[in-house]
Amino acid sequence: MWRGPNPCDGHLLKRGLFQLCALVWMASVFYGSVATAQIPDWCKELPHPEYKTLEQVPVSDPWFEVYKVAKDTFAIYEPHQSEEVISYLILGKQKAILFDTGMGISDIKKVVEQLTKLPIIVLNSHTHNDHVGGNWEFKTIYAIDTEFKPESAKDYLADAQEEIAPGEICGELPKGFDPATYTVRPWKVTRYVHDGETIDLGGRALEVLATPGHTPDGITLYDRGNGLLFTGDTYYPATIWLYRPETNLNLYGESIDTLAVLTQMEPSLKLVLGAHNVPVAPPSVLPELVNAFDDFRSGNATCKPDKPGRQVCTSGKFRFLVRAN
Ligand SMILES: [Zn+2]
Repeated sequence: MWRGPNPCDGHLLKRGLFQLCALVWMASVFYGSVATAQIPDWCKELPHPEYKTLEQVPVSDPWFEVYKVAKDTFAIYEPHQSEEVISYLILGKQKAILFDTGMGISDIKKVVEQLTKLPIIVLNSHTHNDHVGGNWEFKTIYAIDTEFKPESAKDYLADAQEEIAPGEICGELPKGFDPATYTVRPWKVTRYVHDGETIDLGGRALEVLATPGHTPDGITLYDRGNGLLFTGDTYYPATIWLYRPETNLNLYGESIDTLAVLTQMEPSLKLVLGAHNVPVAPPSVLPELVNAFDDFRSGNATCKPDKPGRQVCTSGKFRFLVRAN
């Protein structure tokens, strides 16, 4: 879109040429305004400044951006969809864990294969559609044994279609992607894991911590050896969704309390890695989150109506999308 002075003002243009030029110019300004109006606000704010400090790893699929966030640890980010979901590839010496598989809009397996040749175990932070979209591509899938298993998450079609509604996509959808049939394809859990279990990747152990609340099957992965805490949707640095029927606010409060205590007991904890928007946060963010959530629960947050039945409650830098009273 032309942003400078009217190019048709040049003294050298003859009158007839001027009229034609003016027409073309006005059409381009009009078209440009329409195109600009279609860019959603969330998309105009990208990239988040934090990404400047991270090491980007080139991959062939432009739907994804990959960042090395710690040694042998990659954030696989999907910036073209409003959830800006982040999956994590965590490498051991013998195996790797893919903690979430993203939207399923493009091929995350191809990206993972460009980053490692190790056998992959998929483990999901929870089974909301934006974290399990690529599960079907993988053979080895672990899941936590709770009542909210993938089999009970039946409404993926509606959720998936909402993710590609107008205003949700920034830029191009991948070639070959069919919006009409987009949903989460089924997958098979090959092993159930339990709260407190350790998964050994060879020289790297990951502890599974049940952190229900956002969903009943929420887990946090603790990489004690490297001081990394992968929090899924229990914490990420944007409005935290806590309005859906499967969300339990009491359990959420208990889970973030547990994580905040962990940050105080474990001085070697270096980084908190959430599942949306920006992959890195300092551990101090978790006790701050607890205080903000306490404010909300005690009626001291500032709440504003959102879509029908929902409100956004703000305390300091934290925002919670919750059911309206
Ligand atoms: Zn979620």
